[in-house]
Amino acid sequence: MSRRDDLVPLGDRMSALMLVRLVLVGIVLLSARLAPSELRARPGTLAAISAVYVLVAVTGELARRVGAGRGLAVASAMLALDGLYIWLVLARTGGPESVLGFLVYLHVVAVTLLVSYRTGLKIALWHGLLLFAVYYLRAASLWPGWTGGSTAHAAHVSAFAGVAFWLVAIGTAAFSSLNERELRRGKGELRLLAQLGAELQHATSAADVQAVVAANTEQLGFRRAALLASIGDAGALVRSSWEAGAPVLARMVNALDNPDLGVVLPGACNVVIAPCIADDVPVGALVAERGGGGDARIARHTVDLVAQIATQAALALRNATLRAEVERLATTDALTGLANRRTFDHVLGRELERAARHGEDCTLVLIDVDHFKAVNDTHGHQAGDEVLKQVARAVASAARAIDLPARYGGEEFALIAPGCGRDEALALGERLRGAIAVEPGEVAVTVSAGIAVFPPDGVDANTLIAAADEALYASKRAGRNRSTLASWNSELAEA
Ligand code: GH3
Ligand code: MG
Ligand code: MG
Repeated sequence: MSRRDDLVPLGDRMSALMLVRLVLVGIVLLSARLAPSELRARPGTLAAISAVYVLVAVTGELARRVGAGRGLAVASAMLALDGLYIWLVLARTGGPESVLGFLVYLHVVAVTLLVSYRTGLKIALWHGLLLFAVYYLRAASLWPGWTGGSTAHAAHVSAFAGVAFWLVAIGTAAFSSLNERELRRGKGELRLLAQLGAELQHATSAADVQAVVAANTEQLGFRRAALLASIGDAGALVRSSWEAGAPVLARMVNALDNPDLGVVLPGACNVVIAPCIADDVPVGALVAERGGGGDARIARHTVDLVAQIATQAALALRNATLRAEVERLATTDALTGLANRRTFDHVLGRELERAARHGEDCTLVLIDVDHFKAVNDTHGHQAGDEVLKQVARAVASAARAIDLPARYGGEEFALIAPGCGRDEALALGERLRGAIAVEPGEVAVTVSAGIAVFPPDGVDANTLIAAADEALYASKRAGRNRSTLASWNSELAEA
């Protein structure tokens, strides 16, 4: 009787059914009062039957509400009770030929619409059984107060009515299912868009957005879906969707004209291409393949929904791009493109922690351009900036993939080299110094380097930096253009 995706909760529908019961009773009592001769029954009898029915129905409804687990069983029993009431009234007022016969149809329609189509058919069957019970009781003269009439006529009416109950139940179910299908579809679409919105909130990168959007689009019955996020190499179909500002449909995708689609959905057929446009700027396209042959169709409402998803995807893509840009600005140095001081501090802390955990070494190299002030003074600040870029290039190219080259400040650079111990540290400094010396540029410069190794030269970031700084100062004092390992300084002090 109950489904999880019911449009109206079962409780509400049962309350409505209770109202239907009161309406049934109201009709019976009003008819008994207004047209007693048509009913051929004593109003007192009908009132007594109705009173008992209302009492039992109200008790049953209360029991349904409190009886958590038994609610459905009670509701079913009450539907059976409705049938009994209606047929007690009908038996009193002329059987199948009663002027109140329409109450059966009213009940069948109400149950079909309010409970379920299946329950509607069962109730139609129940009414049929009651109809024949009343018919045979009357035919056998077992029914008190039988008012006569042709038995043959009553048989015809009964047979006709039995079939009619079913037809009413089936007809009601068929018509309302059309209506309900639309409502369900609308509700499903809203749910999908809400789910998409919730998932996109957690999608921070373009790749996340692509995965979320593709998975949700495929739920609409598409064989494959993909979100194109690069706009540089857009093919003909994507471009025409941007120009139209609306989805474009294609039976086949020509891979020559659409190399972008050929990559993400090779050999696709029956495809929707919806533009992703954020603030009038195209940022991508959502492509979804229905598949199937040349007669496959994609419903208009599905195309519209793909377009809505593409609009949400466009905003999410733009947000992801902005986020990545903000992150890049916050973590890199604008002039050289190397990691900035913030990132350096963060990575050094992280790497020292990791090295401590694994019992490994980590080398820190500090580099300072020699006589840089003179470069600025002689060639100007712009040339000075070029030299800084040139040094950054050399440091970056000499670093391993796991190292972090950074601009430490002014004309000072740093390299964090995880896993590099004292035996290799000096060679590393010399390699960097050599790379900078040969890096092509308008002004040739030399650098001095100070090297310190965790843990022997410093047990945390502060002491390690201080040791490297001291070693760098020693290089400067010793005449510049050289590398110094931290403890060399202390040995010199002892000498
Ligand atoms: P030393 O060999 O002792 O290191 O001499 P130095 O001239 O390099 O020493 P100092 O630290 O006094 O000079 C650093 C200069 O770097 C001072 C500053 O104007 C310049 N500088 C710092 N940042 C930048 C920058 O971004 N661009 C340019 N062009 N110059 C910068
Ligand atoms: Mg300096
Ligand atoms: Mg300097």
